[in-house]
Amino acid sequence: MRVLVTGGAGFLGSHLCDALVTVGHHVVCVDNLITGRPENISHLMGHERFTFVKYNVCDFLHVDGPLDAVLHFASPASPQDYLEFPIATLKVGALGTHKALGLAKAKGARFLLASTSEVYGDPLVNPQPESYWGNVNPISPRGVYDEAKRFGEAMTMAYYRYHGLDTRIVRIFNTFGPLMRPNDGRVVSNFIVQAIQGKPLTVFGGGTQTRSFCYVDDMVRGIAALLTAESGKSVAERTNRAGFLSQRSEPQPESIHDPVNLGNPHELTVLEIARLVLKLTGSSSPIQHHPLPVDDPQVRRPDIRRAKALLGWEPKVELEDGLRKTIDYFRKVLSG
Ligand code: UDP
Repeated sequence: MRVLVTGGAGFLGSHLCDALVTVGHHVVCVDNLITGRPENISHLMGHERFTFVKYNVCDFLHVDGPLDAVLHFASPASPQDYLEFPIATLKVGALGTHKALGLAKAKGARFLLASTSEVYGDPLVNPQPESYWGNVNPISPRGVYDEAKRFGEAMTMAYYRYHGLDTRIVRIFNTFGPLMRPNDGRVVSNFIVQAIQGKPLTVFGGGTQTRSFCYVDDMVRGIAALLTAESGKSVAERTNRAGFLSQRSEPQPESIHDPVNLGNPHELTVLEIARLVLKLTGSSSPIQHHPLPVDDPQVRRPDIRRAKALLGWEPKVELEDGLRKTIDYFRKVLSG
């Protein structure tokens, strides 16, 4: 396959580029490097099946030659980043998704949207199944990310229904691992870096809020499974001559075109994560409480029954094993 990855120099995007090139695909990586980093893809530079283009995907997007798939992963994704770049976040989720969809349509390529557990906002049900519509405050500082991704999902489903584009949507829950930026701002990277440096671990609020953490290798395997899974009936079969999808094409409960949660259901409080990081690093850093960010979700845990049924996917890497690998990575980065 020849695959375009937007946001290919970001944390998840670069792991995806790596995995795709490793199994023999050609990858065109597009990134404007706002939050992506050249060092994430430096080992791929010069590879005959890898091309990097520094570009903002909110602008008209053109790629020479055929494409089999477009993976739209461009977006600031850490709360710290999307609070710093609120308008860029809204634009890449809205305009960027539109451009990436338009390119996929022009090339007859499959399209995969990187969506997020943030579409559930501060959820009133736990765990969150894909059928839950969420509890999002559109005007909150976090709303820039949540609503951009919700718009992206709506746009993707419209291209599926109206144009018959072969689309996929993955709702990615908290993911961690090597290649996160040390100053990324997310809880796992913050705590590990603070513990290694002997600085206080910054627990926001009381630390009773929960998250569920997936190791990056599991996430990449799940995304690859969603990308390559075949739908029962081709979209062309279900599209009438006017180009509209027929009644039967309305997404069925187990349609591959409906959003799929990917994440690890192992749920912990933030305080539990802090203590685990202290134990695994052997650090004696104290825990220091800071104000809770506005509208910080109180709970988050993926219901992954759809992913299991559709893709046969579930995470395999235990939290402690993933944390150890990530701690090793940050030790190297911080000493280098
Ligand atoms: N958090 C924290 N200390 C930090 C960074 C984050 O206590 O230094 C908390 C944050 O308030 C949230 C959870 O950890 O409740 C996860 O935050 P993160 O930024 O990793 O991602 P989110 O799940 O909120 O998108």
